[in-house]
Amino acid sequence: MRTVYFLGAGASKAIDSTFPLASELLPRILGPWEGRDPDRLGLVRDYLRKFHRELPESVRRLDFESLLGLVEAALWADRPLASHSCADLEEVRKGLLYSLFIMLAQAETGVPDDMVFEKTEPLASLIRQCEGNPDATIITTNYDLLIEYAASEHMSNWVPTEPLPENPINYGLGIRYGVGLSSSWEALNCKPYTPDEKQCVCLKLHGSVNWLYCPQCSETDWMGIRPLGAAEALAELWKCCKCGNKYQQLIVPPGIGKSPVYPVLKGVWNHASNRLEQAECIVFAGFSLRQDDMDIRNLLLLANTNSQSLREVILVDPAADDLLPRYKGIYGSLVQIYRGRDWKTYLDECIPIRPRS
Ligand SMILES: [Zn+2]
Repeated sequence: MRTVYFLGAGASKAIDSTFPLASELLPRILGPWEGRDPDRLGLVRDYLRKFHRELPESVRRLDFESLLGLVEAALWADRPLASHSCADLEEVRKGLLYSLFIMLAQAETGVPDDMVFEKTEPLASLIRQCEGNPDATIITTNYDLLIEYAASEHMSNWVPTEPLPENPINYGLGIRYGVGLSSSWEALNCKPYTPDEKQCVCLKLHGSVNWLYCPQCSETDWMGIRPLGAAEALAELWKCCKCGNKYQQLIVPPGIGKSPVYPVLKGVWNHASNRLEQAECIVFAGFSLRQDDMDIRNLLLLANTNSQSLREVILVDPAADDLLPRYKGIYGSLVQIYRGRDWKTYLDECIPIRPRS
C-alpha cells in the first residue's frame, strides 16, 4: 500500500525523550539550562529574556513558534513590535533560532557515538521500509537529524565492501556538498549531490539544521549529519563553498504563507504534494496539525481534494482524541486512531522489517 509517514515533533520525542515539544521550547530557552556554548549562548539568552520581559502580557503567553512568527511578520512588514525596532527584532530572530539549534543539537548529540545505533533502533523498521521503495515516503516538519542518524545506522542495502554513501537520505531537493570555513575561506569543489533511488525519501518541509542556503548562488549546501551546522552558520563560522558568501539557515517556522519566501524549498513541497496525492494511507505521528499552520493545512487539504486513492488516515499520538476534530476537518471519516501506546510501539507493531533487497 502506498504509504506516507508524516512526522511532527512528537515523533522525535517518542524516540528520544530529551527532544523538546513546541510548548516546551520557549520555557527551556528562557529558563535554567546548561548550554554547550556558554559564552555566546549566555549572552543570547540574556538578550532574549530582557526582550521577553518587556513584551505585553498577551504576547508573552505565545509559544516559541508563534513568537518567532510574530517577530518575522513585524520584520516583513517593516514595523516595530511594542517598543522594539526592526534592528532589535532581527537580533531577536537570530537569537531565537540560535537557541533552538543549540537545544536540538544537545538532544541529538547527548548520547555517546557508540549508542546512536541503539537509540535509533526503533526507527530501523521505518528506514528499511522506505529504502528504495517508491511506495513508502517520510514527510516531516522536524528540523532535527534523527531520521538521518537512523538511516546511516540502519541502512539495509549498503554492501559493506562499498564506501558508505555520503548522504543516506534522498531529500527530494537539489543540493551541493561542501562548505568552506570562514577563517580560511577558499573556493572548494562543491560536489553536486544526486539523490539516490536506493535511499530513503525524507521530505523536510520546514528545512533542516544541516542545510545551509547561499542567497548569492541560490543553492542549498549540505554539510553532513551535523546538528550544529545551522547554529555555526548563524555564528558565521562557514562560508559558501563556491562564492564565499555568508550562509543563511534554511529553517521555516510554521505559519501563514511562508513557504514562497524560501523558493529553494518549493521542490520539496511539490514532491510532498505528489506523494500525498498518490498515497493510499497516511500515518500522522506526533504531528499536532496546528490551526495557525496554514501552509501545512493547505498542503494536506489540496492533496486530499486531488487524491483518488486515499483509503485511510491513521493518527499515532498520545493526544490523538484531542487532535481528532482537526484531522476530521480535512479527512472526514477516513481518520482512525491507533490505540497502541505511542509511535515507538507503532513502529514495532505495525511496520514489518523488509527483507534485504
Ligand atoms: Zn554561494
